[in-house]
Amino acid sequence: EESNCITNQKTVVAVVGGGLVGSLNACFFAKRGFHVEVFESRGDIRCAKKVKGRSINLALSHRGRQALKHVGIEEKIVSKGIPMHARMIHSLSGKQTPIPYGKKGQYILSIDRANLNKELLTVAEAYPNTKLNFDHKLQDWSPETGQMTFIRADGAKDQIEADLIVGCDGAFSAVRKQFLRRSRFNYSQTYIPDGYMELTMPPVNGEFAMEPNYLHIWPRNAFMMISLPNLDKTFTCTLFMPFENFEKITTGDEVIEFFQEYFPDATPLIGVDALKRDFFCLPAQAMVSVKCSPYHIGDKCVLMGDAAHAVVPFYGQGMNAGFEDCIVFDEIMNEFSEDLGAVLPEYSRVRVPDDQAIADLAMYNYIEMRAHVNSKWFLFRKHVDNFLHMLMPNTIVPLYTMVTFTRTRYHKAVEHWQWQNKVINQVLMLTAVGATVAGSCLLIKRRTDVIKMGLSAEEMWNRILALKTF
Ligand code: FAD
Repeated sequence: EESNCITNQKTVVAVVGGGLVGSLNACFFAKRGFHVEVFESRGDIRCAKKVKGRSINLALSHRGRQALKHVGIEEKIVSKGIPMHARMIHSLSGKQTPIPYGKKGQYILSIDRANLNKELLTVAEAYPNTKLNFDHKLQDWSPETGQMTFIRADGAKDQIEADLIVGCDGAFSAVRKQFLRRSRFNYSQTYIPDGYMELTMPPVNGEFAMEPNYLHIWPRNAFMMISLPNLDKTFTCTLFMPFENFEKITTGDEVIEFFQEYFPDATPLIGVDALKRDFFCLPAQAMVSVKCSPYHIGDKCVLMGDAAHAVVPFYGQGMNAGFEDCIVFDEIMNEFSEDLGAVLPEYSRVRVPDDQAIADLAMYNYIEMRAHVNSKWFLFRKHVDNFLHMLMPNTIVPLYTMVTFTRTRYHKAVEHWQWQNKVINQVLMLTAVGATVAGSCLLIKRRTDVIKMGLSAEEMWNRILALKTF
């Protein structure tokens, strides 16, 4: 066993996990002048040929961009993203209908996950007070001493101490294990019954096979497929479906049958041979939602990103929320002059309700994306909301806009949404009642005329139909 003590006058911050949130967080701490050590269980992905991990691309929006801006790399990342201005809904017949995400000029960005992670690692490494340690898998740590035990690729163990441990090691966090042993730590973990599978849609004659500046959605009620564009002119299609449906498809012919039935327009674009092959390359992946509180232990340790709040991916907010964690922590560091004993509890107090709100919203949006977008009422309400937002931009703000294009606290966005839903529904109901009353008055008046004219019921009905007063 090797013992390693980092001797430095500065506060030593150990960021466990060099994924998206860990590598960005390292920049935030380095900017403050702390001595930052990042420990990542994988090797350096910048040297790897193929990066294993979750989704190939993801949607970056306002909160994530603001965090990147804090460390001066927003433009660098945004320049490698593809703007998506609207959802493009594909009906069974292949009809495509766009539903804009927000006002003109508002969009989300499709970003390559591996490239983003590589860029963030390079930016973090450029700080002279930051060191990246790859092939360091955290095994355990002590809340009393702050001593961590890492396992190296060759099986050797490293003992390392830090003043602050920042757990950014994802949904199955090893840092969080110590929290679970403590009293008054709340924890819940829910697997949804659905899995996801990624398939590639290649370019056609060197061009995107579909309109690139959209997030394409094939909502099919019980399941759905989505598709995000990549810089190499491919699309990554992700099929979200209950595991039991995945399990029913066991042969290449069944894959094609299934795709022809539900995604007939996408089938030739992905390609029959590719579908038959790729569907069985990797099994469908599970999705978990994790909620916990508090996020800290004393002044020693804090959880951020998926380690604190893994959410299902249907609001495109997991990474964005994790990036925003870094800004919120940074703001509280300013407020409490870097006094970790005060900052950590305040961070838990402020951030837990927001992360729990986005976890719930992400669950809700799964139903919205795969089922509600098929409903006329939903589309009507979207139009009403957008119209009212245009008239009263500060009072009526669509939920998606608050979540995606502002930094309104997630739980405040939910509260505001519930309030405005109540108001809009009441106004719509009053309008409907008003219209019915007016219609009835008209009808009674006509009926009186009819009786006066001595018409038969059938004649009366025909006249009403012809007048089309309803
Ligand atoms: P991770 O990305 O999981 O990184 C954790 C890191 O810690 C990894 O590098 C891992 O190797 C390392 N690690 C793990 N254990 C240890 C250990 N014991 N010791 C040391 N290191 C360790 N979010 C969005 O905002 N927009 C989207 O469009 C979007 N789409 C998604 C689509 C899918 C299918 C999925 C599954 C998620 C999506 N997300 C999206 C969510 C997003 O992927 C996560 O929220 C984000 O990756 C969280 O980053 P993180 O750094 O907290 O965790």
